[in-house]
Amino acid sequence: MTEKQLVNVAVPLPLDGALTYSVSDASDIPNSGVRVQVPVGRRQMVGVCVGPAESVQDSRFKIRSIVRVIDEFPIVSDTLLEFLSWISDYYFYPLGQVIAEALPPGFLSARSKGIARILNKGTGRGRSRFNPEKWGQGPDFSLTSEQENALSFINSSLQKKQYQPVLLHGVTGSGKTEVYLRAAARCLESGRSVLVMVPEIAMTAQTTGWFADRFGNLLSVLHSGMTDAQRRDQWWRIRSGESPIVVGTRSAIFAPLADPGLIIVDEEHDSSYKQSEKLRYNARDMATVLGRLSNATVLLGSATPSLSSYYNARIGKYHLIRLEKRVSGRKLPDVTIVDRRKNAEQKSGKKKMSARGTWLTPELETAINETLLRKEQVALFLNRRGFATYIFCPECGHVFRCRNCDVTMTWHRAAAGSSGFLKCHYCGDEAPALPVCPSCGGQAVKAFGYGTEKVESEVRERFPGIRTARIDRDIISSTKRLNEVINSFRKGDIDLIVGTQMITKGHDFPMLTLVGILWADMGLNVPEFNAAEKTFQLITQVAGRAGRGDRPGRVLVQTFMADNFAIKTACAQDYEAFYQKEAAARRELDYAPFARMINFRLSGTRKTLVHEAGEKLVGLAREVCAQALKSSGQGSPENRVDILGPAPAPRARIKNRYRSQLLLKSRSIAAVRRACALIQARKDIIPSSVRLEIDVDPDSML
Ligand code: ADP
Ligand code: ZN
Repeated sequence: MTEKQLVNVAVPLPLDGALTYSVSDASDIPNSGVRVQVPVGRRQMVGVCVGPAESVQDSRFKIRSIVRVIDEFPIVSDTLLEFLSWISDYYFYPLGQVIAEALPPGFLSARSKGIARILNKGTGRGRSRFNPEKWGQGPDFSLTSEQENALSFINSSLQKKQYQPVLLHGVTGSGKTEVYLRAAARCLESGRSVLVMVPEIAMTAQTTGWFADRFGNLLSVLHSGMTDAQRRDQWWRIRSGESPIVVGTRSAIFAPLADPGLIIVDEEHDSSYKQSEKLRYNARDMATVLGRLSNATVLLGSATPSLSSYYNARIGKYHLIRLEKRVSGRKLPDVTIVDRRKNAEQKSGKKKMSARGTWLTPELETAINETLLRKEQVALFLNRRGFATYIFCPECGHVFRCRNCDVTMTWHRAAAGSSGFLKCHYCGDEAPALPVCPSCGGQAVKAFGYGTEKVESEVRERFPGIRTARIDRDIISSTKRLNEVINSFRKGDIDLIVGTQMITKGHDFPMLTLVGILWADMGLNVPEFNAAEKTFQLITQVAGRAGRGDRPGRVLVQTFMADNFAIKTACAQDYEAFYQKEAAARRELDYAPFARMINFRLSGTRKTLVHEAGEKLVGLAREVCAQALKSSGQGSPENRVDILGPAPAPRARIKNRYRSQLLLKSRSIAAVRRACALIQARKDIIPSSVRLEIDVDPDSML
């Protein structure tokens, strides 16, 4: 019997490895990266060929043959396939499902058409250099000396065509984008492609616009707001070489660019780079991996670098470039802390607390008046939507909670005078806002807390005649709508804007001279290891919106925790001081980046089953960690793996699923990964009714 040719095929199923199939004719062996249609059980599926397979001796397995080879050319290039395999390995996520995540929707459907036709058209143009004469005009200013220095390092790195990660730590308004634009132009001129990642397209429309102006139709944009057809369209433009520069959000890391020479991650600290479901990758981290595989310069930019990137810069893994000054001699805004504790005391000393006193201090009120009088603009920042966050019946103690989740429902009024509705911010469930308690019939239902909706409505009462707008997810349903609001703010048609963190990013408003941060410590009292880091970043970024035009900016930071170091260092705009203190705390407690962490998340609809699964999981974890420690040569503390949990997640039930978690951490990445691999290999001790998800380098554990 002649030996059949065997190939491995990754299909989008939760399998540990690829499946092996045979090809009848040796001349038909598909290349790696080519899609094939194969039988899986009784189904037909489309998978991607990932390489030849060894012949299998085991006669219990009958090897089936490939039904159809779909592509003439690989849909996934060798480098991309290597990258995706790396991701699969690193995140303990099945390769076939990683590939499915990386390809546009529908690419693994049985009706897929081959890619010979389109690629033929695209590759015809060869590897010509892209012609800069056709590009948009650059700006008429000259670079600051800091920008010049940054660019000259990046350009020489581009010339070397080697992996070089760079952390560009530039204060807000220091002109990082111009550095990106010129570096991108240089890279394109050398014939290599460019990937630019931004946190969220809607919020970074300005940045995207600058790239579009400069690079015209060489540019593709990829983001989640696009239709499937638009995505596929852009994908083909990139794959065929027609578009050698891509601006996109997180998933753009999978863009099929040939030979990327420069990978830019703007606002690299932003948590939206981390996907919080299914394949829980961090695109910022993966940018460095892709950079290594493709010999690219990786440029991570931020005014508030993540602790882990700054740590990597300090230990020499990344080259650090600083931009310490704003462009055109503009000053960083003047930041004042308004201690609300004192404020509250002063007020209670008086006869009556002002009804509005809950969010508006006299200091801020005065500053708003002064600013409006000068015909300048104000932005008020509060990271919470809605009108009130907590509805409660004082007669029986009933709290209006979501029926699917362990959280209180937020009251939205929608229109002044209307009684509005209650909404769960986790599952989206809504209920009418009744003035009567459903539990005891009490008539005195009270609302507590405040969100952006209430702030805007009280601003209108307090400052009659001013033109206000609100930016949060309740009213900004589309990028188009957001751009309308942003444009009218920029034009001066709005005096005051109230917003959530949607207003923190990448916009320049020259007449915005006062920023009020209403409740700076709101994010500090959450049980997250990185709460201080997130708070520092948010305050610094929001404050950085002020004074970006010719007039100086002011920032008022209202807080109940005026002594907290994250708040103090953010207000002093002293990144280094923040880093030193936060790094010391993380090192002490063995948290990232000094320890590596893997979080096992369990969830299910039955509480007892989730609980039992947690007990089984921790038993297994203890066993494998002890084993791993023994086998690694008498337990050096560096190889120790700590096990925390299992414990219910802080949000113990979301969308009717009970949630529990178990955290592994270790100073040795090898040790924690080994333990994770051993656990994963025996994960069938968890009943199938309980979902187990592995979160490598977790960013949030709520
Ligand atoms: P960052 O991203 O560092 O906060 P931006 O890149 O948004 O800052 O730049 C802020 C503004 O300064 C932009 O409008 C940009 O066009 C402008 N700008 C950049 N470089 C210079 C320069 N050298 N001289 C004058 N203006 C500049
Ligand atoms: Zn809910």
